[in-house]
Amino acid sequence: MLTKLKPSGSIPDRSLYERRESAVRSYARSMPRQFGKAEGVWMHDDQGGRYLDFLSGCSTLNYGHNHPILKQALLDYIAADGIAHGLDLHTEAKADFLTAFEELILQPRGLDYRAMFTGPTGTNAVEAAIKLARKVTGRELVIAFTNGFHGMTLGALACTGNSAKRSGAGVPLAHVAHEPYDGYFGPDVDTAALLAQRLADPSSGLDAPAAILVETVQGEGGLNAASPKWLRDIAAIAQAHGALLIVDDIQAGCGRTGGFFSFDGLGFTPDIVTLAKSLSGMGLPFALTLLRPELDQWAPGEHNGTFRGNNHAFVTATAALRHFWSDNAFEHDVLRRAGLLEQRLARIAARHGFEMRGRGMMRGISVGSGELAATITRACFDAGLIIETSGPHDEVIKVLAPLVIDDAALAAGLDVLEDKCRDAMAADLAVAAE
Ligand SMILES: *Cc1c(COP(=O)(O)O)cnc(C)c1O
Repeated sequence: MLTKLKPSGSIPDRSLYERRESAVRSYARSMPRQFGKAEGVWMHDDQGGRYLDFLSGCSTLNYGHNHPILKQALLDYIAADGIAHGLDLHTEAKADFLTAFEELILQPRGLDYRAMFTGPTGTNAVEAAIKLARKVTGRELVIAFTNGFHGMTLGALACTGNSAKRSGAGVPLAHVAHEPYDGYFGPDVDTAALLAQRLADPSSGLDAPAAILVETVQGEGGLNAASPKWLRDIAAIAQAHGALLIVDDIQAGCGRTGGFFSFDGLGFTPDIVTLAKSLSGMGLPFALTLLRPELDQWAPGEHNGTFRGNNHAFVTATAALRHFWSDNAFEHDVLRRAGLLEQRLARIAARHGFEMRGRGMMRGISVGSGELAATITRACFDAGLIIETSGPHDEVIKVLAPLVIDDAALAAGLDVLEDKCRDAMAADLAVAAE
């Protein structure tokens, strides 16, 4: 079993990127290496470095890099001249995906959704969801939440909280109200009750919404996990006010919190669900908006796109559904490993007074400041661990290891994180003592 991290410590010539790639690049700045290969939980750079991946493409690689079963399915499909691009034509790959999705995901959960294949990224799925909600209800306002993240195109960006991201829009981001998420004012304020009160009050200034758009665990917003009760209350509020409940499961779905959907077993059913990131299982672009059949009021082609339904992604997504979601074994394994992760993070948090965040394998620690979080994650990277931050001040160190990680590799990565937290806190104390 491979558990040895091996940072290369060398920075390749970056002049090509500085000369020809836009300054908008971001992850490449905190991880200045040139990567070539990856398998499972490991990424390799061109200097012989081997990095343990605790980022997983922000939860796009839940099944690890180049999973052998998914890879073989795709290789076989390409070798047999399977359709690569077919607009939204019926294809065998699409039929296989829809069949597997119906059999393994929808039917066992008693869910009845139609699948709308949108453009290939998550933000495309969110745009389709809010556009449909506005069309069906005839209303404009979408209620989103503080620290919510929903994508970078204008409609989805309007629903995103982060001001640095919003300010890139260059135009007003309208028709969205950002209401306080669960716990925003601390544990004693029930923000669902506040929302219910405002919506019930004809003089509150809050218009009747087309949709309430929510993440069950906020990924980019700092791994805030809403309580099941709060989510059920929000679902009930949406229903009471004729608004559609949209769960953005782009990051929290596909097993990240245990179940295939992050709302599995929580006692409510969204009207619309968005999926992307790990849906293809192999990091191929693939997004999906699920909608209750009654909501399917689109005219043919009313919402369009050249890349709707990536056939290569259908193939790998189907292989992932059949391999990981045919029974409950994977979910149980993820939840067991999530328990190990929680214990280890709780130990680190208790020692240093950090705050625990998240749910399932979508967990992290808030270290209080973005500066400290950056010091720790930089030191982790220098030791061969790929790990990132999120939250309003980038103060939350997030562990998004592939769900297939074995216990030994998980422990090896957490050892590094624990060490680097200790080093950074010791350095902090030394500075404070001076
Ligand atoms: C990543 C993400 C998106 C946007 O997906 P892209 O593929 O980057 O467009 C939307 N919502 C959530 C919750 C996300 O984590």
